[in-house]
Amino acid sequence: MANESYEDAIAGLSKLLNEKADLGSVAAAKIKQITAELEAASSKGFDPVERIKTGFVQFRTEKYEKNPDLYGALAKGQSPKFMVFACSDSRVCPSHILNFQPGEAFMIRNIANMVPPYDKTKYSGVGAAIEYAVLHLKVENIVVIGHSCCGGIKGLMSIPDDGSTASDFIENWVKICSAAKSTVAKKAGSLTFEEQCHNCEKEAVNVSLGNLLTYPFVRDAVVNDAVSLKGAHYDFVKGTFELWDLDFTISPSISV
Ligand SMILES: [Zn+2]
Repeated sequence: MANESYEDAIAGLSKLLNEKADLGSVAAAKIKQITAELEAASSKGFDPVERIKTGFVQFRTEKYEKNPDLYGALAKGQSPKFMVFACSDSRVCPSHILNFQPGEAFMIRNIANMVPPYDKTKYSGVGAAIEYAVLHLKVENIVVIGHSCCGGIKGLMSIPDDGSTASDFIENWVKICSAAKSTVAKKAGSLTFEEQCHNCEKEAVNVSLGNLLTYPFVRDAVVNDAVSLKGAHYDFVKGTFELWDLDFTISPSISV
């Protein structure tokens, strides 16, 4: 087996299955063997199961068992003050960069941290999370956090002017913030592509804040002063964090 290529192995498996329909257990064993070998080859020594086990044991020892009050309270329920939209990018986890503890932030992470407009059929997953956060958890702040070098924003900025797309999902998703791209073209069209992308990372956050107001329960909560909407941008190249409020005009930001 070691001298066979994986293609050969899979071809052999197909042949086996075609020739002998009753060789169920033999085929199952072969599949198991090929899968194990593929995993070993692709991970190049990295053991994902071991990594997950080690990580959880460390969390349990260092945090869970040392904070019985916190985890005891969280076992009964959650009452987060924040709902956070952040990018799926592995470098921008809000729990790390803002030190959110378990129970503090209800999160949605997606490509380019976008909030789609209210749409019961197209974006029901996001709508359900916002509805739950606002109406049931009664979060007091919704924060949309953009970030430097965002691949999703670069994707949005790279969509041709005719709007044609080549991907199954990504481009149609990031088009949620097409208005940000138009704003950047108007305000910063003479800058380099990288600088335009950087501007778009922040403009897209503002489009998302506007989209939050298309949800009737968010609008009501904002009008009643129960929820505040905040935009933010984390720059992991410079190590800075910018935060601003949406109070129907963009108020001065604070920088850290
Ligand atoms: Zn991103």
